[in-house]
Amino acid sequence: MTEIRAVKGTRDLLPDEIGVWHRLETAAHDLFARYGYREIRTPVFEETQLFARGIGTETDVVSKEMYTFEDRDEQRTSLTLRPEATAGIVRAVIENNLTNTDPALKVYAMGPMFRRERPQKGRYRQFHQVDVEAFGMAAPSMDVEVIELALEFLKACGVTEFELVLNSVGDSACRPAYVEQLRAALRTHASELSADSLRRTETNPLRVLDSKAPEEQALIATLPRIGDHLCDPCREHFDEVRRQLDLLGIGYRLDHRLVRGLDYYVKTTFEVTSGALGAQNSLLGGGRYDGLVKALGGPDVPGIGFAVGMERLALAMPKAAAERRSDVFLAVLSPAALDDAIRLQRSLRQAGVAALMDHEGRSFKSKMKMADKLGVRFVAIRGEDEIRKGVWSLRDMTRSSQEDVVEARVLDHIKEKRNG
Ligand code: AMP
Repeated sequence: MTEIRAVKGTRDLLPDEIGVWHRLETAAHDLFARYGYREIRTPVFEETQLFARGIGTETDVVSKEMYTFEDRDEQRTSLTLRPEATAGIVRAVIENNLTNTDPALKVYAMGPMFRRERPQKGRYRQFHQVDVEAFGMAAPSMDVEVIELALEFLKACGVTEFELVLNSVGDSACRPAYVEQLRAALRTHASELSADSLRRTETNPLRVLDSKAPEEQALIATLPRIGDHLCDPCREHFDEVRRQLDLLGIGYRLDHRLVRGLDYYVKTTFEVTSGALGAQNSLLGGGRYDGLVKALGGPDVPGIGFAVGMERLALAMPKAAAERRSDVFLAVLSPAALDDAIRLQRSLRQAGVAALMDHEGRSFKSKMKMADKLGVRFVAIRGEDEIRKGVWSLRDMTRSSQEDVVEARVLDHIKEKRNG
């Protein structure tokens, strides 16, 4: 029989590593609520055309990386596992008229995304994102609030080593003319371009700026820059974003090549990288997408948001000490103590104490080994002696002390001492 293994590019989140994910999720729930965001959960698959229209057919994500399949209905509807969260959220916002009832709508989401990329450390085919989206607010101060929230989230997760990278990609008033200039410049260097960049010169020249090919870097440095071609409103918006970032003491690096992988961005784009991550150093990315809701058939409301890669964030987070998996372990040393143990275990749990016991009649030595592995604070021992005295012998594992405690006092004793 061939061995069945996890699909390439997917990974199991095992119990030993889940603690850091819980901390990250809790930080998100707590922090985002303080900024007025509420959670939204949308399906992991949508009609393919949502992503084609929402992300752009010329992006790598849509053209090469989507998990697309036919449904079993008569029309053979084309469905796709979501490669990112924004398009699905925008669809839900439109479908449920959310911006009608809340003109300053703030939502966040968490969950798996699917892209058929070449797997490596920090890059998976099923990965997870925390996603934040704000609708209806066009002011530069909103860009700043969203960026500030992104950074506060990283800090709340204990990440201190990161860099904010910032750009403006213009809008429909100024970008098309810039893109034409970029295309013209690229065409004059056609012989120096890779096949990919040559194709993108025609289909989506901005993508060439994403090129990591070492032999193209010198040429890219000479290309026209979007920053020199912004229209007045985009320029003023960007200046105000930068002024307010300065006001809050938020440092950043400008990078004219930060055009981001998805087509829908306008004006502000940003990314946060971390040196702790290695080659896949992008922790989060985001930007403004003012035309997207309208393009997907909704009202003309602006939007801005960002997505954090949870795997990468988990990698960048400080490792916590191994977590205690139980407060107390009940060691039954006589068959006559079994009923007492079952009852005590239940009442401890009902009172909020994490309690475990050995159900398999192991030796005292192996019970103690189990207790050690679980990192419990107390082992409660009951054998013939203890039954006779009507007590549990409570061993405090951190102090290596042991004392007899009457059954009625066990709960209070543990509660009093467990945090000490
Ligand atoms: P994007 O949606 O491409 O803007 O990506 C936003 C963030 O999601 C990135 O900064 C990464 O942290 C994370 N991310 C994107 N693609 C992957 C992937 N294939 N595997 C793991 N994380 C990813």
